[in-house]
Amino acid sequence: MPASPSHAMNLHPSTDSGPPEPSDAVFQAELAALDTAHLRRRTRRIESACGPVVTMAGRPVILMASNDYLGLADHPAVKRAAIDAIATYGVGAGAARLISGTQPPHEALETALAAFKHTEAALCFGSGYLANLGLITTLAKPGDLILADRLSHASLLDGCRLSRARFRVFHHADATHLESLLRRRGSVRRTLIVTDGLFSMDGDVAPLRDLAALARRYEAWLVVDDAHGTGILGPKGRGALEACGAEADIPFHMGTLGKALGTSGAYVVGSSACVQTLLNTARSFLFTTAPPAALSAASLAALQIVQREPERRTRLWHNRERLYDGLTRLGFHLTPTTSPILPVLIGDPDRALAFAAALLERGVYAPAIRPPTVPRGSSRIRLTVTAAHTDTHLDQVLAACAEAGRALAIV
Ligand code: PMP
Repeated sequence: MPASPSHAMNLHPSTDSGPPEPSDAVFQAELAALDTAHLRRRTRRIESACGPVVTMAGRPVILMASNDYLGLADHPAVKRAAIDAIATYGVGAGAARLISGTQPPHEALETALAAFKHTEAALCFGSGYLANLGLITTLAKPGDLILADRLSHASLLDGCRLSRARFRVFHHADATHLESLLRRRGSVRRTLIVTDGLFSMDGDVAPLRDLAALARRYEAWLVVDDAHGTGILGPKGRGALEACGAEADIPFHMGTLGKALGTSGAYVVGSSACVQTLLNTARSFLFTTAPPAALSAASLAALQIVQREPERRTRLWHNRERLYDGLTRLGFHLTPTTSPILPVLIGDPDRALAFAAALLERGVYAPAIRPPTVPRGSSRIRLTVTAAHTDTHLDQVLAACAEAGRALAIV
């Protein structure tokens, strides 16, 4: 049996003799199929904060896998804000915000996010996954059409499917292909164009101005997920829209707090009416316990650092150039990345796993990314560099990549 993702989830094989007995053997078989295809996943234990050097099995390892791009996840001011807010508001929010109430840190964060993004309003969600489900299912319904970049994040694609709108993908970052689909769309109520701003597994930026121009021409709504761009792209760190000069053209978008802001959760920013509509209809906002107020307080502290300390972005881009230049000079084949996400293409999942293991032996942790996260045949090692890495860390990473790459005949 091929271990495709759909097979991996097929836990209910039909039989002629009625429903199968629940049996652990079913799970064992699924796991064995994943093992055979080199697609089994395991969590790795990290006994410290998330970088830049972590403790794994008692030993220091340079972490090249975190999206904490600005090094804020373990920042004293961010931690202090969370601790102080816990002292005042407790840990749990008690219920969804429309049930048990909104606490001042929730409001303060949303006000600050709207000001940062130059929009009227913001609404926070428990995670980026939830924000995307809520946003897309609010905007699109049966009878609508969604055209999504083929490499859009899984949470966007899941939102598209959940909306029950007609759903097609366009070639990655290809406005010409998108336009050909728009021209042939037939009669639909509303059209959504969906894309990541900065693509999480390839590290490139969507052609947002072209997509916004098409959205205008074809009266479509452009939905941008700026999870990875927020805090790092654009002169002020406002994200991919700022970097592309497209802020005025894209009236609302989402982003996350768990990456450059170093905390957890997500937001949608836009007009007050857009945000009020989400607050009233997004099921992933309505029917889930609110993020703790302390998390909002920590995110607000992180947002203030993002705005106050542009030197963190300068350091990040310096580090990115150093690692990118070193990897390409060594002969590694990278995706056409323009960001601190540096995916080294390997191909087969077993070779990607072997490379990751060889790096770990040499004190560097960067996981193998395999299908279904990336298309078949494009398994890779995804190195993410942050502002917290030093030149010495990066030189150690390059030395480990060189040794491991030669040992496995990758370079
Ligand atoms: N969008 C993108 C592009 C992402 O990379 C991620 C997380 N990896 C998400 C959304 C989901 O965000 P969260 O982790 O906050 O659920």
